[in-house]
Amino acid sequence: MTRGRIRAGLDEVPGHVDVLVIGLGVTGAGVALDAVARGLTVLAVDAHDLAFGTSRWSSKLVHGGLRYLANGQVGVAHESAVERGILMDVTAPHLTHALPFLLPLDDRTGRRQSALLRAGVEAGDWLRIAARTSRETLPRPRRVSATESRHLAPVLGPGVRGGIVSWDGQLEDDARLVATIARTAAGLGAELRTRARAVEVSGAGATLRDELSGTPYDVSARAVVNAAGVWAGGLVEDVRLSPSRGTHLVVRGDAFPDLRVALTLPVPGAHARFLNVLPQPDGLVYIGLTDEAVDGDPPDVPEPSAEEIQFLLTTVSSSLARPLTPADVVGSYAGLRPLLRADGRTSDLSRRHAVLSSPSGVVTVVGGKLTTYRRMAEDAVDVAVARAGLGAGPSTTARLPLAGAASRAELARLAATSSSPRLVRRYGVDAGLVLADARAVTGLADDDLLAPVADSVPVTLAELVFGVTHEGAHDVADLLDRRTRVGLVASDRVAAEPAAQRAIALAAAQLR
Ligand SMILES: Cc1cc2nc3c(=O)[nH]c(=O)nc-3n(C[C@H](O)[C@H](O)[C@H](O)COP(=O)(O)OP(=O)(O)OC[C@H]3O[C@@H](n4cnc5c(N)ncnc54)[C@H](O)[C@@H]3O)c2cc1C
Repeated sequence: MTRGRIRAGLDEVPGHVDVLVIGLGVTGAGVALDAVARGLTVLAVDAHDLAFGTSRWSSKLVHGGLRYLANGQVGVAHESAVERGILMDVTAPHLTHALPFLLPLDDRTGRRQSALLRAGVEAGDWLRIAARTSRETLPRPRRVSATESRHLAPVLGPGVRGGIVSWDGQLEDDARLVATIARTAAGLGAELRTRARAVEVSGAGATLRDELSGTPYDVSARAVVNAAGVWAGGLVEDVRLSPSRGTHLVVRGDAFPDLRVALTLPVPGAHARFLNVLPQPDGLVYIGLTDEAVDGDPPDVPEPSAEEIQFLLTTVSSSLARPLTPADVVGSYAGLRPLLRADGRTSDLSRRHAVLSSPSGVVTVVGGKLTTYRRMAEDAVDVAVARAGLGAGPSTTARLPLAGAASRAELARLAATSSSPRLVRRYGVDAGLVLADARAVTGLADDDLLAPVADSVPVTLAELVFGVTHEGAHDVADLLDRRTRVGLVASDRVAAEPAAQRAIALAAAQLR
């Protein structure tokens, strides 16, 4: 069992902690883990749920930072490549894997452009080498023939005359990463509360509101870290954010028959702009990404616009033998990138993170990437510790495996002998714990616990029960939209709802 807890509401919340963290996206969960691993007492709260915000709407890639290199930001690119290596080799081998990307070269790609694209991919490999990530973790890029390109992606249209295959990291799922960081932090003693909104913050604490009961609670803290993502500006006056929206389409795997790679496809008529086609471990394929300015206060759940959906469909179709139609689109989602406004200027913080100290004493950490969450957390806790004069050593998270992590060899051995390779893929060496917990809580046989909960929904009852008992899931939406991602396809969500309700009812008896 965990030492700390992840639970909904503020009942029995500690009245004083060393570090109070606002927001439980990847950044806030990372800050909670970094601080508790340094021996500090931690309370971390989210107004809604773990991974409620941007952290569940990403492309789910562990980036090497090539795009930053293209902008001349060598330091940021190197940092991203180093953090990618830490995630893939040390902290989360169970939640990450190497993903091959095919960049097809066709009649539309001029000689100069081909040479530039090849140079870019080589630079990406240079980043891997500079970050000391091995070829076993991420293979070297290589040129492939037209025949091999068509074998890797039979969906490509005519005119393909070859391609470049390169590798980057892919997450099992972004919200699963957040839930795992949160569970690791709770295991070390951090208190994590969902449905707990910060309504007023200062450097010495906050007034929190239990969103289930409406009850206010005052918590004092020696340091307060604001990790509220695009909503961070609502908590401190001197941080101003203006978000931009990025949208993905969700299609079933059969829209891209026999696709063996991810695709990087050029946007016709645009310079150095590409879309990605990203096959997912659960059989879906995501297509992204757009970039649209958003006016006004950021909504809780951003919605893709009809124009973005049309743009993605048309653009990806221009590279395919069979154009996609709206009927292929089974879902879509949008996330908000934080753009920081300072002194009338706007700078894109989605490239680099910032740690900002307000006159009130609140430390805000914003921007960055899922990939760099650990480094963001380390930087934020360093500033918080120094400001508050807390007696804590340096960050230890670069060497701290997340719950369930093990070497790739050990994970492969376990998957080969496990009754549920799916659980190993999502929980690593904790797969046995997930199943044992579900058996103990429900008294059901493994056949029941490990069967897909509905046609076309590979999620199991065991995962749903574990979501309630160990990952703080409070309701059906937590289970289907964040502990698992069934909710990305509306019809799948409807089909899986009875299983989620059953898991909550079965686990409720145990939790009482
Ligand atoms: C479309 C898109 C695609 C991306 N793809 C990738 C990718 O492939 N790889 C990658 O590395 N990065 C990617 N990123 C970047 C990455 O997703 C973000 O940098 C990261 O998720 C931000 O996490 P966060 O924790 O800072 O913010 P969030 O995840 O938004 O978390 C903030 C949390 O604060 C909570 N909150 C807000 N106000 C309050 C309050 N008053 N009290 C309590 N809680 C509060 C919210 O409920 C929310 O859960 C992408 C970003 C976008 C927009």
